[in-house]
Amino acid sequence: MWRNLRIAILLLVLAIAAYSNWYDKYSTTDWDETLWVGVFPIDAGDGEAAARYIAELDTADLADIESFINNEAHRYGVLLDRPVRVDLYPQVRERPPEHPADGNILAAMWWSLKMRMYARRNSHPDGYPPPQIRIFVLYHDPTFTQSVPHSVGLQKGLVGVVHAFAQRSMTRPNNVVIAHELLHTLGASDKYDPATLAPLYPIGYADPGKVPRYPQTLTEIMAGRYAIDEHNFEMPESLAEVRVGAATALEIRWTRPK
Ligand SMILES: [Zn+2]
Repeated sequence: MWRNLRIAILLLVLAIAAYSNWYDKYSTTDWDETLWVGVFPIDAGDGEAAARYIAELDTADLADIESFINNEAHRYGVLLDRPVRVDLYPQVRERPPEHPADGNILAAMWWSLKMRMYARRNSHPDGYPPPQIRIFVLYHDPTFTQSVPHSVGLQKGLVGVVHAFAQRSMTRPNNVVIAHELLHTLGASDKYDPATLAPLYPIGYADPGKVPRYPQTLTEIMAGRYAIDEHNFEMPESLAEVRVGAATALEIRWTRPK
């Protein structure tokens, strides 16, 4: 009797979790009302630059993320006037749990659970509407930190953690990373080879039909780099040089399978 009850409760919990993941996935990609995205700046704590940078940061600095996604959505036929709105939220003091570096599945599951609780604790500042997607951006001081940890975006939990540089000249490249992780939370997958960082052909190319194929001049957002030739890949300087490819548009349900 008790054993059956325990099993029933466990099944119920699993069913609720599955339903909530399904609901998040469909409610954020049905594109019938504006999706609210909150960007939460955090001082990574490795130098003086982040505090200054965050103090000067303004919603206008994030404007190209919103216009990039909305222009691309319209290009794929989304009718909604403003598919996403991206707002700057107040600085968060608590740093997110550290992402496990190795590929251990249990560690990754534990991290994702801690990350969801962290996001819940830190995404409801007084006087602001709670955003549907939460992107936490850790700003690093480029004087002390030349290469930053990997950024992450999770569809389960609708949360992203971005590592960025606290430097004005990096605002636009940072926004490319924020847009990439934001699309991960909507179900888009990476489109590059993790070993070589090469964009995958054709799905990681912004213009796969171009003749001649090289050099590409635009970047597919989930590939992160564009191919100058078969062996050389560059990162874009801003979202003006980035597009959403057909495979990504299908994953985030801007288009339907034919
Ligand atoms: Zn990615």
